[in-house]
Amino acid sequence: MTSIKEALEQIGELPTHMWIAGQKVSIGSRQTIECRDPGSGQLLSTLPAGSKDDVAHAVSVAKAALKGPWADLLPKERGRLLWKAGEALHAQAAQYALVETLDSGKPLQDAKVSVQRAADYFMYYAGMVDKLEGTSVPLGPNKVAYTEKVPVGVTGHIVPWNVPLSMVTRGIAPALACGNTAVVKPAEDTPLAAVMLIELLEEVGVPVGVVNVVTGFGSEAGQALAEHPDVRHITFTGSVATGKKIMHAAADHLASVTLELGGKSPHLILGDADLDRATPDILAAVYKNAGQICSSGTRLIVEKAIHNELVDRLAEKSEAMQIGHGLSNPDMGPLISNRQLQTVVGFADRAKGRGIDFACGGNPARVASNQGGYYFEPTVANNIDPDDELAQKEVFGPVLSVIPVASVDEAIEVANNTDYGLAAGIHTKDITAAMRFAKSVEAGQVYINGYHSSGDTVPFGGFRDSGIGREKGLAGLDAYSETRAVTITL
Ligand code: NAP
Ligand code: MG
Repeated sequence: MTSIKEALEQIGELPTHMWIAGQKVSIGSRQTIECRDPGSGQLLSTLPAGSKDDVAHAVSVAKAALKGPWADLLPKERGRLLWKAGEALHAQAAQYALVETLDSGKPLQDAKVSVQRAADYFMYYAGMVDKLEGTSVPLGPNKVAYTEKVPVGVTGHIVPWNVPLSMVTRGIAPALACGNTAVVKPAEDTPLAAVMLIELLEEVGVPVGVVNVVTGFGSEAGQALAEHPDVRHITFTGSVATGKKIMHAAADHLASVTLELGGKSPHLILGDADLDRATPDILAAVYKNAGQICSSGTRLIVEKAIHNELVDRLAEKSEAMQIGHGLSNPDMGPLISNRQLQTVVGFADRAKGRGIDFACGGNPARVASNQGGYYFEPTVANNIDPDDELAQKEVFGPVLSVIPVASVDEAIEVANNTDYGLAAGIHTKDITAAMRFAKSVEAGQVYINGYHSSGDTVPFGGFRDSGIGREKGLAGLDAYSETRAVTITL
């Protein structure tokens, strides 16, 4: 394994600043945020906690940049810049992956995939820049009507800590493709790669001020960004509670929002499922990123005929999982912070108090080589009532809630029995049952016989409390343009 010291040497200097108007803005007299390695608790870097004034400065710079050289670029030139950004990020993927692993704890192999995905967003949307066409509308012989797409203006991006870099680029790549400018507020826990990225964008030729990053606390910098009257669209990924605050703030100046919020996503395993295929898929769906993915398959709804056999298999495989520091490429890394670890411990302890049966796990995990890290055991909580807290609330940790059911109809009813509606999966050989499920489940994405199999070009977002709007794919462009309709009387 690469040691933390070796990784830090390979990375070189970590950011200790934010980035506004092409300038490093360092701590000065500001408060600070501490950026720690969740695998060891080690302090990696200290950055400025941006103030309301810093946000106002960044927004004014981004507003001015809307009228600068950025606006004069031909669509193909803007597309080329995005493509170059993707290429540059791919070329530096190994270095960025080390940063993502140290900052967020994820296994290095997963960090590489998410950095490559971050780069792919630029390349995907690069190809769209010169294809953002309008329409013409027939109004008879004496009139001509057409529509054109124009940028919405300054866009704000408030980003969570679970997949830090690719959550930034899945927002700013389509925003830039549509000709907007951006101010990014990364999560206080994981700001490093976002700051590095903005420097990289300017190195490949994106004009100064088109993208700015204000590091800091959500309650101050994030709130100020959502409230700023010159921010015309806010893209947010995170918790439901914060999403509501952002929508309230946006309402005051009638900005639009894209909200990608939490989930308690059902994963149905019908009696006829191929368990050799389903078992690793169930484990990946819930344990990937230590369960800290909004769309994790956390409610396992199982037909009774296979319930015991499947739980035995899951417990055996869970107990065999290697847990460790992300740099050692384990099966599962740490949680993001001690705060998140305590949240997960709280869920487990309350469940024990209610007499819930854990087929495995349920406790913080000891990793001898990294005792300062925030590790939790892969956990299978069995025989969960569909209304129990473990079937209703987002844990955001490696905890699977198993709910046995008697029939497909009951499985579908239980699947829809939450306030969320982000993702849903099913394993079955029965195409009719799979399609009945796909048509009746209230979820933004449905996975049949392969959870999380859609990649980064398929639209992604939630029904109900899981959010508003779509990111990724062509649908991910919709939020970033206004339509101007022009009617000419001849
Ligand atoms: P959060 O509060 O929703 O944070 C997400 C982002 O919003 C961060 O950048 C945060 O800044 C910022 N923020 C916080 N308060 C804000 C405000 N009033 N106005 C504007 N921005 C604000 O999430 P969290 O507290 O880190 O995690 C709590 C729970 O959220 C998790 O346990 C999980 O259930 C859920 N979550 C969901 C996702 C997802 O992918 N949907 C991702 C992360 C978390 P700070 O970093 O400074 O707080
Ligand atoms: Mg960190």
